[in-house]
Amino acid sequence: MTHILNLNIPTEITKIKSNLLHQKQVEIFLKRDDLIHEIISGNKWRKLKYNFQQAKSQGHNTILSYGGPYSNHLHALSYACNKIGFDSIGIVRNGESYKDNSTLSFCKENNMKLYYLDRSNYRFNKYSQEILNDVKKKFSKFYIIPEGGNNFLGVKGCEEILCESNLNYDYVCAPVGTGCTASGLIRSMNNCHKFIGFSPFKKNIEQQKNIMHFCDFKLYNNWSLISDNHFGGFGKIDDNLINFVRQFKLNHSIELDLVYMGKLFYSLFYLITQDFFLKKTKILVLHTGGLQGVQGFNLGTS
Ligand SMILES: *Cc1c(COP(=O)(O)O)cnc(C)c1O
Repeated sequence: MTHILNLNIPTEITKIKSNLLHQKQVEIFLKRDDLIHEIISGNKWRKLKYNFQQAKSQGHNTILSYGGPYSNHLHALSYACNKIGFDSIGIVRNGESYKDNSTLSFCKENNMKLYYLDRSNYRFNKYSQEILNDVKKKFSKFYIIPEGGNNFLGVKGCEEILCESNLNYDYVCAPVGTGCTASGLIRSMNNCHKFIGFSPFKKNIEQQKNIMHFCDFKLYNNWSLISDNHFGGFGKIDDNLINFVRQFKLNHSIELDLVYMGKLFYSLFYLITQDFFLKKTKILVLHTGGLQGVQGFNLGTS
């Protein structure tokens, strides 16, 4: 399956150099999952891998999943399914209003069938039997991958990320959407190092709950979430952030998206200026990709 997609795994690690890091004697290594694939980039393939295997072994031809109108997950899923030979269905939050945006147009070009739900129906009823039956009637039966690829098989795929290198580090940092990627990373760390998740949301109750589901504090006590990293809320940006991301690209030739990675690095550098980390600390940051969603900003949504 994987060879059709020509994925760049294991991914390389880039050392980030800057005056600040030099001065504070902190090292940052960036695991380049953004380079896995031009379209199925970052953590998206990690979360799909075992779900695809499961769908296939259960005899399914169609994959159904969920996302917002600029969802990186649906974007990657539609492309991967089309290449591998699955049909795909996307249930889209508030999708009617955005049905011709670049992300959803891309999904349609990749033969994804779209089913739109308004915000409240999406929030409360997206997994309801009634809606799933209607989708089945309209299209076909399907294998469900929950929103954001966030299930046990998604976590399992993310448990493989850190195994690819034997670099010695003290901290692992990654952005948190559903918390699926974070869960996989934490579970694979065996409490040896600390994990810091950078949340782009104002409220993190769901993220916290989700990570707890896979990484109960009784077994995993090495993780925490940074929650004042949201710039006003999910998808919200300001000039500081835009300038930071621009400068980061000039300095390091690495692109960061504004929803997840830009905010992570902005906050991480701030922590470093505040001497949050001891001298000689080694930090591994996971670059989760996400560069397709950028168009959402001009339109004021995410
Ligand atoms: C989807 C996505 C995330 C969120 O990952 P979760 O596993 O849902 O926490 C983080 N970063 C980028 C760039 C993404 O596209």
